[in-house]
This record gives sequence, structure tokens and C-alpha cells, in this order.
Amino acid sequence: MNNRTPLMAGNWKMNLDHLEANHLVQGLAMALSDAGHDYSKCEVLVIPPFTDIRSVQTVVEADNLDIKYGAQDVSIHDNGAYTGEISTDMLTKLGCSYVVMGHSERREYHGESDELVGAKARKVLDAGMTPILCCGEALEIRKAGTHVDFVLGQIRAALAGWSAEDVAKIVIAYEPIWAIGTGETATAEDAQEVCGAIRAALREDFGDATADSTRILYGGSAKPANIKELMAQADIDGALVGGASLKADSFAEMARFYA
Ligand code: PEP
Repeated sequence: MNNRTPLMAGNWKMNLDHLEANHLVQGLAMALSDAGHDYSKCEVLVIPPFTDIRSVQTVVEADNLDIKYGAQDVSIHDNGAYTGEISTDMLTKLGCSYVVMGHSERREYHGESDELVGAKARKVLDAGMTPILCCGEALEIRKAGTHVDFVLGQIRAALAGWSAEDVAKIVIAYEPIWAIGTGETATAEDAQEVCGAIRAALREDFGDATADSTRILYGGSAKPANIKELMAQADIDGALVGGASLKADSFAEMARFYA
């Protein structure tokens, strides 16, 4: 037993316009309330595209919902001539509490390095939000059996020079790339192997208090059918969910893994 609050985070990616976003958040709130969800047993987070955040904020505030929301990426710059970018200040003003960085799709399609990912995490933490730092290996690396070293290398590079206190405030999401959006979930043992190794590395680098309080999520085709088994693993504190977070009922069911 540990005192880390589980987190179910829905990464909507580039899906749903602002009207559909309203609909999904209302449906999710309703499904959770009908089922008697206890938010102290699992925090619920939605991560919509930037253009939906204001709408989500309006629903959450108007209905006084316990659902949290955040962003899928952020700039490392404060303001100015950075066409297309969004600052931490813009996100905090919209009430975002979490920001994802280093998702494999951004690493692959936008060439994001571990150093950039680390700088984004620092920026987000300094702005008072919680970074969700993604890591994960491609299929070739998994096949070569070097996945644990690869993932620890990504995290160590991103968090180089960080204090133990700051690392304790972030969330790490382990997402094997071969399991994202493919329907192929890592087995609970595969996921635990890497999440356990991440916690052991945090213990070695930053000490017991940080290792014991940093939340580590699994992501990659997590769904209602496998969430209980994943959440039963010692070092998995929640999930970063893509496809299954786009349906209110399935995502609500996942948040209620404990029931
Ligand atoms: C993700 O993109 O973070 C993800 C885990 O997607 P899916 O659940 O669809 O595999």
C-alpha cells in the first residue's frame, strides 16, 4: 500500500472539436456521478486539444466538476514571435493543472529531444502545473531487449540536474510505442517491469521519498478490459489513455478500476 493517488488521464490527441469536447466532459461527469465515483480513489484528467480547453474549463467551472484538465504540449518560451506555440501562462490562465510532454508522437513527428522535453517539464512545474513526462521504446528496442536501459536513459536525460523535491511533483508516463493505438497492450508484467525499473532508478538518483511519491502511469491500448490488472501492479499508479478516453462510459469505467 502506498499513498500515491491513482490518476486516469485521457489523452484526446487531435480528436473532438470544442462542441464535442463539451459533450464528452458532461457525459463523463454524468457517468462518474451515476456510478458513485470517489475522486479521492482516482483522480480523473482530460487532455483535450488546445482549441477545446476553454470549453472544457467552462463546463468544469459551471458544473463545479472534480474533473481536471490539461494540455498535450507547451512552449518553452514565455511569449513573442513563436508562431503556433502556446505558453504556460496561457494554460494556467485557463485553469489547466497538467501538461503532457515528450509523447512519442511529438518525439517522432516533431523531433523533440529528451533535453527539450526536460525543459518543457521544468517550465510547466515552474508555472505551478504538473508535468506528465512521457517515455517509451520502439518495437526494435523492445526486441533487442534494451528497453529498460533506453527508457531510463530518456528519463535521466530529461531530469538531469533536477532536485529530488521537484522530481517528486511530476508524473512519469511509460508508453511503449508498439502498444500505442495498436490494440496491442503490453502485458501487466511487461508494464510493471519497466515501471518498477523507473521507480528503482528514481530511488537511486533522488532517494526514497521521491521514489515513493512520484506517480508512474502506463499507457498503450489501456482499456476497461485490462485496467484492473494493470492497476494491480505495484509500480503502476494510473494510465495515460488514448482511444478509450474518447468514450465517456469506457473512460469512466477505467477511472473506477478500484470498484
Ligand atoms: C496515448 O496516446 O497516450 C495512448 C496510450 O493511446 P492508446 O491508449 O490509444 O494506445
